[in-house]
Amino acid sequence: MTHKLLIANRGEIALRIQRACRKLGIPHVQACSQADQEARYVREADQSICIGPARARDSYLNIPALVYAARATGADMIHPGYGFLSENADFAAAIEAEGLIFVGPPASAILAMGNKVRARQAMIAAGVPCIPGSPGPLPPDAGEIRRIAQGIGYPVIVKASGGGGGRGMRVVATEVELDDAVALTREEARTAFGNPELYMERYLTTPRHVELQVLCDGQGNGVHLGDRDCSMQRRHQKVIEEAPAPGVPRALIERVAARCLDACKAMGYRGAGTFEFLYENDELFFIEMNTRLQVEHPVTEMVTGVDIVEAQLRIAMGEPLGLTQADVGFSGHAIECRINAEDPATMLPSPGRVSEWQPPAGEGLRVDTHLHEGYEVPPHYDSLVAKLIAHGPDRATAIARMEAALAATRVAGIATNIPLQARLMRDAAFRAGGAGINYLETKMKAEAGA
Ligand code: ADP
Repeated sequence: MTHKLLIANRGEIALRIQRACRKLGIPHVQACSQADQEARYVREADQSICIGPARARDSYLNIPALVYAARATGADMIHPGYGFLSENADFAAAIEAEGLIFVGPPASAILAMGNKVRARQAMIAAGVPCIPGSPGPLPPDAGEIRRIAQGIGYPVIVKASGGGGGRGMRVVATEVELDDAVALTREEARTAFGNPELYMERYLTTPRHVELQVLCDGQGNGVHLGDRDCSMQRRHQKVIEEAPAPGVPRALIERVAARCLDACKAMGYRGAGTFEFLYENDELFFIEMNTRLQVEHPVTEMVTGVDIVEAQLRIAMGEPLGLTQADVGFSGHAIECRINAEDPATMLPSPGRVSEWQPPAGEGLRVDTHLHEGYEVPPHYDSLVAKLIAHGPDRATAIARMEAALAATRVAGIATNIPLQARLMRDAAFRAGGAGINYLETKMKAEAGA
């Protein structure tokens, strides 16, 4: 059967998906907002269709417009990319209801993993290690909540079951703060997520962010593609990602990944997915599952040689995985720097016309970007404009290649975080490997105050 894919996303990831389509010979339709109509990746797509005004709510988040766009162009598959509607169960369900193919898991799996209490319970049932916490939603009674917190041990973190994007959570250091924190978080959860349900976990003070990539075909076959470390974060946004996670024992990764694949089987998971963990004291603790492609997927592709987007498309078309765990090899080390159009000091977006763009080139280097000279970075969307990925036989070589790549990149007309990335490549703690999730934020604060 011949297929046609609607790409329901923009920027570098739209181009990445187009590349996979060309590789597989799948014709594609690029959806775009009015603000993106002149982008080269729209003009050079097999076909394109405007889905609405610039504002994301009216275009890239507009479910009826996207379903209509698929129907109008004869596309039978929709790839959501990352962000926007990629983890929206209603979108997946709307596509399923139309008899079209959502490139991702079934809506039921997105829904289950989108509810953090349910996700936690599913992981516990599959033997995936979780942070010690409340067995289910917090009860209404304050006394009972206090007993649960005592059982876990302070500090604890109160989290909204429906939360996301780093919102709807509150750290509680001692019992005197507990009642207020629960009340405030519940109110926030009710208004922001429409779901007042809360749960509680032990708060880990110096963890790293380590995640596992899986691929499942929904026909009983699944593999993991190893781990990534994404601890370099600012305001809960990942800045640098790498594979593998420095110093995390291979045996631990293998053991936990096997349990993650069990969890996938139990929920009928299909497609690419990421299990996110906090890593502390040589242990991994599940925090959430991302039921989609991730920004940082290229580092995994560089060390495994597996084309994750191609695999997503093949799985969506009903092909069996064609890959066993024994086929997955790991070679060398890969690092990704996210290049954002932003003021390096304030982190505020820096949209505008790109007057100069010369991407770097070199051994082991990959550049995923939609930038070109004359391109107008619109102010309406995420500020990610390019991803530099450097691979080498070992971590030191990957860092050296990234340093050279950052130095060779020429960009003018917009401000970027390249100076910050270049500094981080020289940072002693980053070079040593294994810095925690609070490292970058703490460093920046100290420098700002100095
Ligand atoms: P979201 O869906 O909003 O991203 P997560 O549950 O993934 O929420 O948590 C976001 C971030 O909050 C984590 O990456 C971590 O930095 C911090 N965090 C979450 N839970 C804990 C915890 N139990 N201990 C320490 N930090 C945590």
